[in-house]
Amino acid sequence: MKEAYKPVLVNNQAPRRKELIKTQETDEDLVLNLSLRPGQLTDFVGQKELVDNVRIAITAARERNEPLEHILFDGPPGLGKTSLAHIIAHEMSGKITATSGPAIERAGDLIGILTNLEKGDILFIDEIHRLSKVVEEFLYPAMENFQIDFVIDKGPYAKTIKFNLKPFTLIGATTRQGLLSSPLRGRFGLLYHLDFYMVTDLARIIKNSAKILGMEMNEDGALCIAGRSRGTPRIANRLLRRARDYAQVQKIKVIDSTCAAKALDNLGIDTMGLDDVDRKVIRAIIEKYSGGPVGIESLAATLNEEVDTLVDAVEPYLLKSGFLKRTSRGREAMELAFEHLGFPRKRKELF
Ligand code: ADP
Repeated sequence: MKEAYKPVLVNNQAPRRKELIKTQETDEDLVLNLSLRPGQLTDFVGQKELVDNVRIAITAARERNEPLEHILFDGPPGLGKTSLAHIIAHEMSGKITATSGPAIERAGDLIGILTNLEKGDILFIDEIHRLSKVVEEFLYPAMENFQIDFVIDKGPYAKTIKFNLKPFTLIGATTRQGLLSSPLRGRFGLLYHLDFYMVTDLARIIKNSAKILGMEMNEDGALCIAGRSRGTPRIANRLLRRARDYAQVQKIKVIDSTCAAKALDNLGIDTMGLDDVDRKVIRAIIEKYSGGPVGIESLAATLNEEVDTLVDAVEPYLLKSGFLKRTSRGREAMELAFEHLGFPRKRKELF
């Protein structure tokens, strides 16, 4: 009998950038998120439309006894793309092999992975936009016809041999849809976008996690943390753990809004969920570039951060919540940013 849902991690450690990437998993996250990760579709909170569509796709594929079509999840880090891939493997009773774009350096790295997949298994590639061109092209026939081409020997003796794979499902996750080549994007049958979560959904996630971690927390405490979690479940779980530390040290039994607010204030996370890096970004735009617009490269150079860090992890929430606006000439601080950081109101243009 086929062994169901068993995650296999293949060289999943993408090189970490040295800069502060707040929404990336820390080692503490890695361990704790395994226990907090929703196990099945019914445990996955929020993103209702997406979940409904995934459920239909799974049910239809199961009824036809076919593997699911290849799926692409796109959206900012920490919103549940990896969790969904694991849930889908579980719901399809398949084995999941997880790797990431930067971890697959050569096409050859994929041969072993692909040839070991059984019918209905899931291959999960995180940060799929970071696959090299060569690896990407090697994937095309695997995705399309479940075939790969090996080249053996060199020069005039080179020969291409076709190898048939078992029908599998590739699930790709990306924070940057725009960087995906259109031939690769076009080979996914199902494309889903994950958006930031509503505060009420985050509060549900926080309460579930608190229960798993054996913590006592009231509704106000959960809502206070949820409101400062930047619409992101991974951050919600991280802030919950910081509130737990604070409550433990202060000998507070039940985490309420006063306790949660104090714990998060101490970490420099303000009422809108902004932390030091966010405020540094906004301040730089206001103070050094008169509120903008400023190109992302100049901003990254001023802050000594990587462009990718700003684009992937910092600005999506600032854009979404109205602190910044993206124009063709660069990023611009909005009225809310001036107000929130206590700068005098933005001067209206005189024409
Ligand atoms: P991504 O792959 O998009 O970066 P993950 O799937 O790794 O995000 O999610 C990070 C963590 O957030 C998970 O381990 C899980 O604990 C939590 N999480 C994400 N989405 C949900 C959700 N919809 N319901 C409950 N918990 C969630």
